[in-house]
Amino acid sequence: MKKKTMLITGGAGFIGSHLCELFLDRGCRVICMDNLITGKLSNVSKLLKDRNFQFTKHNVSQYIDIKGTVDCILHFASPASPIDYLKFPIQTLKVGSLGTHNALGLAKAKGAKFLLASTSEVYGDPLVNPQPESYWGHVNCIGPRGVYDESKRFAEAITMAYHRYHRIDTRIVRIFNTYGERMREEDGRAIPNFINQALNDEPITVYGRGDQTRSFCYVSDLIDGIYRLLMSGEDYPVNIGNPNEITILELAEKIIRLTGSKSRIIRKSLPTDDPKVRRPNISKAKKILKWYPKIDLKTGLKKTIDYFEGVK
Ligand code: UDP
Repeated sequence: MKKKTMLITGGAGFIGSHLCELFLDRGCRVICMDNLITGKLSNVSKLLKDRNFQFTKHNVSQYIDIKGTVDCILHFASPASPIDYLKFPIQTLKVGSLGTHNALGLAKAKGAKFLLASTSEVYGDPLVNPQPESYWGHVNCIGPRGVYDESKRFAEAITMAYHRYHRIDTRIVRIFNTYGERMREEDGRAIPNFINQALNDEPITVYGRGDQTRSFCYVSDLIDGIYRLLMSGEDYPVNIGNPNEITILELAEKIIRLTGSKSRIIRKSLPTDDPKVRRPNISKAKKILKWYPKIDLKTGLKKTIDYFEGVK
């Protein structure tokens, strides 16, 4: 049987690189496309010798030209950490809009299945907790985070338009906070920041009072959820995340305990529009994908701490 060809945009990023590995393991050909503004070639360097793997440096906000068959496009290209989308606001808006349009155009031309990496940020600073897929969100479109939130909301809208108008076979995964191996040390998100600060006995920077909540999903659970969604027939968005909600202060304290660090906690100002709560309602994923997260926070944090210790 002919190998399936998967195009993974943002394939050299944190989540993209795990997807490249998954599909190579499953006997597919993988084209990894990344412009490396936040992705890193080192995330996929060990895959380069595999003849089923191809890396292409390209910005998907420009026309995407691929020769031959493409069976499936997983569109993961985008800055995803708040510090990155503040640093690259225009690129973030462009990749969610123009990049998604180009990737969908390619899906249409090749007759490929299309999966969009969306985000819990489409719910903004939510007034409903936990967030079900039916919640329309509470987003400040002109705030600094709006560049990411609105680009992903547009990306969802154009994905559904291509589905309805061009009958493209589409999937939308709304990814909640995820952590694990291959996050960058300088990623800027809470878990890599706190672990690296703790390992270096530097102050742990809690923004605001630390009573804001998040729910953290280990990367292998997320990847399993994405695979199940791709294989399902569900066109509408599905939340994938871990519903175990904790405050950021509790997270900092847990990381200090697990690393045995001498770090103390310091306060920094809360970023504008930082969501006060976030927790996925995963009833839909449980019901239609038979998916639920298996790795608890302590186990996942230990693995991530080991990873960052190895990188140091
Ligand atoms: N945060 C923090 N200190 C840091 C980094 C993040 O207190 O060094 C907070 C941030 O303000 C937010 C939460 O941790 O309330 C999660 O932030 P992250 O950047 O990981 O992702 P977000 O959920 O905001 O997209």
